[in-house]
Amino acid sequence: MKIQNFLSLAAPVIFSMTLLNSPSIAAQSQYDAQFIEYPTYSGDDLELLVDNSGTHFRLWSPKAQDARVNLYDNGHTGTPFQTLPMKFDASNGTWTASLPEKLYGKFYTFQIKWNGEWKNETPGVWAKAVGVNGKRAAIIDLDKTDPEGWAADKGPKVDNFSDVIVYEMHHRDMSMHPSSGIANKGKFLALTEDGTVTPLGEKTGIDHLKELGVTHVHILPSYDYNSVDEINLQNNTYNWGYDPQNYNAPEGSYSTNPSDPETRIREMKEMVKALHDAGIGVIMDVVYNHTAENDNSNFELTAPGYYHRHWDDGRYSDASGCGNETASDLKQMQDYIINSTKYWADEYHIDGFRFDLMAIHDIDTMNKVAEELKKVNPSIFVYGEGWTAGDSPLAVERRALKENVGKMTDIAVFSDDIRDAVKGHYTDAADRGFATGKPGNEETVKIGIVAATAHPQVDYTKGNNSKFAYAKSPEMIVNYVSCHDDLCLTDKLHKSMEGEPEQNMLEAAKLAQTIVFTSQGTPFMFAGEEVFRDKKGVHNSYNRPDSINAIDWTNKSKYRDQFDYYKGLIALRKAHPAFRMTSADDIARHLVFDKIDSSKTPNLISYSLKDNANGDEWKEIKVVFNGASKPQTVNVKKGNWKIVAKDGKISPDASLGASKGGKITLAPYSALILAQ
Ligand code: CA
Repeated sequence: MKIQNFLSLAAPVIFSMTLLNSPSIAAQSQYDAQFIEYPTYSGDDLELLVDNSGTHFRLWSPKAQDARVNLYDNGHTGTPFQTLPMKFDASNGTWTASLPEKLYGKFYTFQIKWNGEWKNETPGVWAKAVGVNGKRAAIIDLDKTDPEGWAADKGPKVDNFSDVIVYEMHHRDMSMHPSSGIANKGKFLALTEDGTVTPLGEKTGIDHLKELGVTHVHILPSYDYNSVDEINLQNNTYNWGYDPQNYNAPEGSYSTNPSDPETRIREMKEMVKALHDAGIGVIMDVVYNHTAENDNSNFELTAPGYYHRHWDDGRYSDASGCGNETASDLKQMQDYIINSTKYWADEYHIDGFRFDLMAIHDIDTMNKVAEELKKVNPSIFVYGEGWTAGDSPLAVERRALKENVGKMTDIAVFSDDIRDAVKGHYTDAADRGFATGKPGNEETVKIGIVAATAHPQVDYTKGNNSKFAYAKSPEMIVNYVSCHDDLCLTDKLHKSMEGEPEQNMLEAAKLAQTIVFTSQGTPFMFAGEEVFRDKKGVHNSYNRPDSINAIDWTNKSKYRDQFDYYKGLIALRKAHPAFRMTSADDIARHLVFDKIDSSKTPNLISYSLKDNANGDEWKEIKVVFNGASKPQTVNVKKGNWKIVAKDGKISPDASLGASKGGKITLAPYSALILAQ
């Protein structure tokens, strides 16, 4: 979704005494105060449970006047074969109904009576299986959706989140182009296919990911979303999926048969298993911050008013920029987010969660999410966008903002500092950054290098976006220069370096990613940039066709040098813990910047990782970045250095030759890495 970085420039937030004294659940507006007193229920039998005594329904809707269940033979057409009245339990606000048989293969919807009228049917908010287009929930035996070997399936063990290397991908981008050689184009199954190649024999799909060496894929929204018509898949409609409909069932258009509720579940699990078998973790992009619909959302149709936030006059507040925002500060919604992510971790073996517009959620909720997920699997990585896309009734000091990440545990935020400083600001296509020759970004790049932790040589008052060291640990920071939002790196370079030869853009791309992959924190890259993929200059490509979004894999031959560089960069990071320190103290002690006067020599940064940092086999690593359009010279301490990277080439085993130090000249837009 389009990011406006609303309030991401906020100064450090000071908690007021009032806030410290207020209860953890407080209404954010006069209108929402009415919901605090609602009884809550978070049992794992919410909405549907099938056991030996039959099929049981339990809908949470404390203020409904009546409720009923409609039972169907079909997920999409026909009328109910039976409608069950429901009984209310005022102690927990739930409505229940049961039948003595297991109704596997049937479908259901709920309806509540509100202001004297039956509202529209809804599959509820906890449907774990749905019919085509997600309008009816399906009753299935989830165990039957497990692929062979599922019980033993496990994602990669992660000791420190700075060891994770994230590859952000959309299912269609990866496989739709004819050159992918993949049979199940645009499907979960695309990543289960071994041995796929381009017409020129370059590896694609999962083999490409293994060759590249990333540790985790981050898949764009893969829960059931609203915008793609699953009945007419021949239309090949594209959407990023930031329009949530059913949070606990996979999206149908990524399955080979959206009409069969089991297929999408089984196929998504098969994808997860194939990636796990390849040693790659799976991170889900989750969008609990808003729903695609307002009044017709499943939240609103089950418990009107409750799940969304409102202004005092009852209007939907809209911190998502998409028409509404959800209310994590209310208990039932907080539990919903926690239980939903736990469900994905447990049932689908998901290894991480990327929270869209995370600052719409409150800090307390995010801390509980991370804490509960850790109990399922300590390797689960949670990170998010530490900003909102509009104003919210939620008090700024309670928001899970980037600036508040120090108040969160085991949660990381995206660094827009390094993103905008390296390649130029995201709102201005022509704006250049440190890696493309624009002076004045040096200190902000340094903020990125030290993962926004306190460092004696970094002056945060000179930061472009942030003015203080907001991270207590590098594990709180995700570094990147590009993602699905805005111009991707290739397009940004085309626009901002217009008129320069393409080779300069390729070199600037390598430099930009070298900064990201050698920086402390967790590196994150956008799929296809290793083959210089573009999006034809379209920044907000969320609903544009495959012709804009699909990665042309013939690029892998055309830009093989680029791919090899990325692969080398990833191998270097994986082999050397010095780039993956785990504490702010270690960074302050082992990462030492060389004195360079940026007013006289702009676009030049040089630093050392000293004294076998973080147990590295290399005693000292010298890292130098020249973002200028001309060659620049640095003075490196005399010694026996091995050359790891120079002038657009990289060798993770330092086989590019030797250097005695002294004056070394870097080509324009290039990095120098030496080791001893
Ligand atoms: Ca859908």
